[in-house]
Amino acid sequence: MRIGKRHSWAWATLLAVAAGLAAAAPADDGFGPQAVPAAAQTFKVGSLQVIALHDAQYVVHNDAKVFGVDAGAAAVGELLKKNKLPDDRVTLSVNALLVRTGNRVVLIDSGLGPTANGALMASLAEAGVSPNDVTDVLVTHSHGDHVGGLAQAGKLAFPKAVIRMSTAEWTWMKSQPNSADLVKIIEGHVQSFTPGAPIAPGITSLALEGHTPGHVGYEIASGQQTLLDIGDLAHSSVISLQKPEWTAQFDTDAAVAKATRKATFGRLAKTHELVFAPHFPYPGVGHIVANGDAYTWVPEAP
Ligand SMILES: [Zn+2]
Repeated sequence: MRIGKRHSWAWATLLAVAAGLAAAAPADDGFGPQAVPAAAQTFKVGSLQVIALHDAQYVVHNDAKVFGVDAGAAAVGELLKKNKLPDDRVTLSVNALLVRTGNRVVLIDSGLGPTANGALMASLAEAGVSPNDVTDVLVTHSHGDHVGGLAQAGKLAFPKAVIRMSTAEWTWMKSQPNSADLVKIIEGHVQSFTPGAPIAPGITSLALEGHTPGHVGYEIASGQQTLLDIGDLAHSSVISLQKPEWTAQFDTDAAVAKATRKATFGRLAKTHELVFAPHFPYPGVGHIVANGDAYTWVPEAP
């Protein structure tokens, strides 16, 4: 899929951030990465303490170059209007999750990073967590809005943490020229795994294929309660759920991503499992509910 001019900027920014490079500041037209105030919301999954952290907002033009590439901007605009949203843009939140389990302090994804004004470090500070406290960073996938925060000023942002991602994702990340600088910084600290493997007490990885070659979610379980961090299985709480069959340009394998979305949404709607979605409106916690052939997002105050 050819990337439009404006989106080539957005995409280039994400990739530059992934590479740990300072991205050229765009004209502030309200699109691209937008700074947000620090925010940390603490809740419990069983006996585990979980904290939703706000990093940024990301605003994308509705021109069918990113969302609904096969449906067209008019259809996307109609859907947005039906949901009482502006029809010229799609606003995504960028959120991360922190889990305290045993003596481990586990961060899942690291946001856009300081070069894109990500607020993750300030949100962690608000939660009383210092970068040195983090023992593990779990990566859902290696796009810049999930790994950009792994480095700060050319160094590890979480110096004592082991960085974990699936073996397929780590192999893919190392093959991406735009990730080379970040790979150099993190490579001595990465431990990769096969999806399905337990990662920490109460945290298990789950293959969610299609968005990137080794994309995974993480399930947090304690007692009778569970929470699934779905990573980028879905991007927009409106478009991805209400039109799971529409193609999103972010997905490296659109057909597999579509099949994974439909199967996983179906399962989550049946189990009524609590979900954390990094790109849904902050804090990104709620349920996926079946609605005919599609789904809707029901946020829940954590
Ligand atoms: Zn993302």
